[in-house]
Amino acid sequence: MSVGLVIDELFLEHRSDEVHPERPERLLAIGQALADSGLGGRATRVPVRAVTDEELGRVHDAAIIELLEKNLPGRSGYLDGDTYYSPGSWRAARAAAAAAVDLVTAALSGEHPRGLAAVRPPGHHATPSRPMGFCIFNNVAVAAAAARAAGCARVAVVDWDVHHGNGTQDAFYADPTVMYVSTHQYPFYPGSGAAAEIGEGAGTGTTVNLPLPAGSGDAEYAAAFDEIIVPALRWFRPELILVSAGYDAFVDDPLAGMRVSTEGFRRMAGAVRAVADEVAGGRMVCVLEGGYDLRGLAEGVVATFEILDADTPAPPHDRKDIAHGARAAIEAARRALSPHIPALAQPGV
Ligand code: ZN
Repeated sequence: MSVGLVIDELFLEHRSDEVHPERPERLLAIGQALADSGLGGRATRVPVRAVTDEELGRVHDAAIIELLEKNLPGRSGYLDGDTYYSPGSWRAARAAAAAAVDLVTAALSGEHPRGLAAVRPPGHHATPSRPMGFCIFNNVAVAAAAARAAGCARVAVVDWDVHHGNGTQDAFYADPTVMYVSTHQYPFYPGSGAAAEIGEGAGTGTTVNLPLPAGSGDAEYAAAFDEIIVPALRWFRPELILVSAGYDAFVDDPLAGMRVSTEGFRRMAGAVRAVADEVAGGRMVCVLEGGYDLRGLAEGVVATFEILDADTPAPPHDRKDIAHGARAAIEAARRALSPHIPALAQPGV
């Protein structure tokens, strides 16, 4: 079955007058790479629409939706020091959230079990009550909430963007039905995402943080996925896996200090695909977040798309030695989570 793909010129209308890393050229590079690889033609394009206030309201406070609706359309400015808006931003932001929702709907109906939303602005820093960090609405969180509203019992969000998705974590921190899993450079913007942050109340154990030191690369990410993330997902048994697919952990990214290669992103996507096939009926929807080196971004998206498009990709099995700091971070996550996720109790799975 073909992959559902959202990519649209409307997302280019979110643009800053000043030099800013979150720029329309990111999406143009992705579109060009998908076309050059011939993959774009294999996907089924899903049209864009505006998200409804009801869909946003499952995650975002009514007060912030109203405030943005009143102030953004047709105007330019800043929502925080990093987060610009331009006359087209309101339409782009509403379409980005709707794209993630529509690919979830298509996954749940079986029309397109797997999908990729190549959208801007990104979403994972936007909290229920405020835009921040280049993000206006939390696209992936709104999509997870849509899946729950459609009857999905358990939804997982895997966030491999180099930054911690504080907004997504906030939205579901006490919710046992949505597991949030993040690998991120730490300490780093936005400051959250310590291994001890594992959820609260009924949601204790369904937030999984892998705070990796700067300089971590393919081997460290592979270990985090194999030893913590995949076992945690198997234990949780989501009916749908969403991915906050950011490519700013790429070795040449100008904003961050990680060393992930394109093959490293392919491996992460393959690990998620394998667990989606095993426990989630193959339902996997990737939503674009960051990634500011245009080559790394475009190649990473193509590698991800190839995994989504493959019939049955082989799950990765290679293992390598990893840096001491990353080993300490993985063991810290294991210690924090193993009282709640028994599968994590034994090191060296
Ligand atoms: Zn990021």
